[in-house]
Amino acid sequence: MSLYSVQTFYFFKELPETQLLSVRAWLLGHAFYKNILGLIILGKEGLNCTLACTQAADLDQFVIDLQSFFGNPEFSTIKKSDSDKPPFRRFVVKIREEIVTLGRPEFVPQGERRHLSPADWHQMLEQEDVVVVDTRNDYEYEIGTFENAIDLNIKEFSEFPDKIAKLDTDKSKPHLIFCTGGIRCEKAIFEMEKQGYENVYQLEGGILNYMEQFPEEKFKGECFVFDSRVAVDKDLKPSQNFSLCPQCGEVGSLDIVCLKCDERSKLCKACMSLTKEKPEYETCSKNCRYHYARDPETKGPQQKQFYHSQ
Ligand SMILES: [Zn+2]
Ligand SMILES: [Zn+2]
Repeated sequence: MSLYSVQTFYFFKELPETQLLSVRAWLLGHAFYKNILGLIILGKEGLNCTLACTQAADLDQFVIDLQSFFGNPEFSTIKKSDSDKPPFRRFVVKIREEIVTLGRPEFVPQGERRHLSPADWHQMLEQEDVVVVDTRNDYEYEIGTFENAIDLNIKEFSEFPDKIAKLDTDKSKPHLIFCTGGIRCEKAIFEMEKQGYENVYQLEGGILNYMEQFPEEKFKGECFVFDSRVAVDKDLKPSQNFSLCPQCGEVGSLDIVCLKCDERSKLCKACMSLTKEKPEYETCSKNCRYHYARDPETKGPQQKQFYHSQ
């Protein structure tokens, strides 16, 4: 099995709306040449990218080309990790109003906005009287977060402004905010300042950047990522505890052995509950499910695991 290099980064740069389609075409063409997989969210405020390739050098070159295509804007920290399975099936460029959806397209970060390096963040966490806020969704919080972090119980990032309005903390205290790779905090910090928080700091490069430097410290659990790895562990390796449910594509954590081919897999709770009535759901793939339903007696050939991209 080949190893995939993965790189995650973003940058904010004003792009004329009329050029987005041609920018998209350029990205698709170059990615195709170099066999790049991944997802780019493109908008008139910039780019948010997660890219993967079996050839690390090709991926590096693609990122360099991309940087120079956009006139070498100031990039976020590039987070690198590896995956022994393809994190994406394809290369997709989606054009969106915002590259991270807060519902505030007017917030376009420029320049330094109180970023803390992982080392400074680490130190700040040790101070008393700081408030640590997880800007991510509830299901991300659930599988791993920083010690003492407040869960805002949000289902999607666009709920952040409402939830932060209900956060009953002393607005003059330092508030430390974080997300996976940093991009959500770029907008969250605007919102918090607008709501009167005076001392907001964001973790530069997010959890992924912190874990790279402090793998066994103040972040507990695994970090959710938005590709087929589902989450990465403290060494930034794909999670052993979660994978995508082969039946429906949701997060799976319940171990099964495929009734058809004996391949190990993880189902989500919903599909696991179906197995009582429909045993064919206790399989590693839609293919095995289909063949098991038709012929439960004969074992089938082992399926190559199939991963959804999103
Ligand atoms: Zn499922
Ligand atoms: Zn199977």
